[in-house]
Amino acid sequence: MEQDLRQLQADAETNLATLDNLKDLEEIRVRYLGRKGLFTSLLRQLGQVSAEDRPRFGKLANKIKEELEQKFNTRKAELGASDTGAAGQRDDLSLPGRLVPFGRLHPVTQIMDEVCSIFVDLGFAVAEGPDVELDYYNFEALNIPLHHPARDMHDTFYINDSILLRTHTSPMQIRAMEKEKPPLRIIAPGKVYRCDSDITHTPMFQQVEGFLVDRKVSFADLKGVLTVFCQKMFDQDDIRLRFRPSFFPFTEPSAEVDIGCVICRGEGCRVCKQTGWLEILGAGMIDPEVFKMVDYDPEEFSGFAFGLGIERIAMLKYGIDDIRLFYENDLRFLKQF
Ligand SMILES: [Zn+2]
Repeated sequence: MEQDLRQLQADAETNLATLDNLKDLEEIRVRYLGRKGLFTSLLRQLGQVSAEDRPRFGKLANKIKEELEQKFNTRKAELGASDTGAAGQRDDLSLPGRLVPFGRLHPVTQIMDEVCSIFVDLGFAVAEGPDVELDYYNFEALNIPLHHPARDMHDTFYINDSILLRTHTSPMQIRAMEKEKPPLRIIAPGKVYRCDSDITHTPMFQQVEGFLVDRKVSFADLKGVLTVFCQKMFDQDDIRLRFRPSFFPFTEPSAEVDIGCVICRGEGCRVCKQTGWLEILGAGMIDPEVFKMVDYDPEEFSGFAFGLGIERIAMLKYGIDDIRLFYENDLRFLKQF
């Protein structure tokens, strides 16, 4: 009797070790431990055992049954972890895998990186400054004194009389020139703030300011740098640029720069309002008054500066007509880039 019990336990354990799915496990469990299973039929023979041996065999039978049940449960948990489910089917390796969603850079960040890398290739260094800026750097040192009408164009968020959220990244011109002597070739990317909000303006947007100071820098150098930039940015070697006279307090002369419409290539379309031209940035030769603020001699040095809006470039490049889409965090929009 004892030998039969031990043999049954050994057989069951061997079966348990070799099976590899939940379906087989269940079959074997029924065969050994089911109501009509081998174990039960062996227990029936207990009646034939002598009365004095019966308690000992009974105890042994119970112990073996408990051990087997535990082993079945352990094996079931192991298989369950690697199996597809209660149905006991194995993994179907031919099924397509589940896609892991990948994150990506925000379209504005992508354009910002692209703009910066083009200028870095042209030999410009990248400088970053504080978003919370002194009135002095944001306005005064850039030839925009208190009560200057140009301040009205900026819709500034003031924190107090002398501290504000920068309205452009041009303060970096002053901060850089205060620290270093020419030659300087610097771009200053970053967030800027203005109280303004409609389909082409957001209260926060991103800008890249660039400037170059050296001896004998001319407007032709400015045109050259901006032309190369626009060619690379819009992947058009024959892109046309147009400089329109304009006014900025910290450059003289100043210009608004247009490019031939990248959508219709000058034919006239909705984006360029049928003009064939798109306004893309502001630029000019650095005003001698600005050089005086940082103790550069305007007789010895000259330079140019330009500023461009990253969202504006992204809108032109991707044909987007509402700037607010960039900041609504709608994944359906963002996943397209
Ligand atoms: Zn057009």
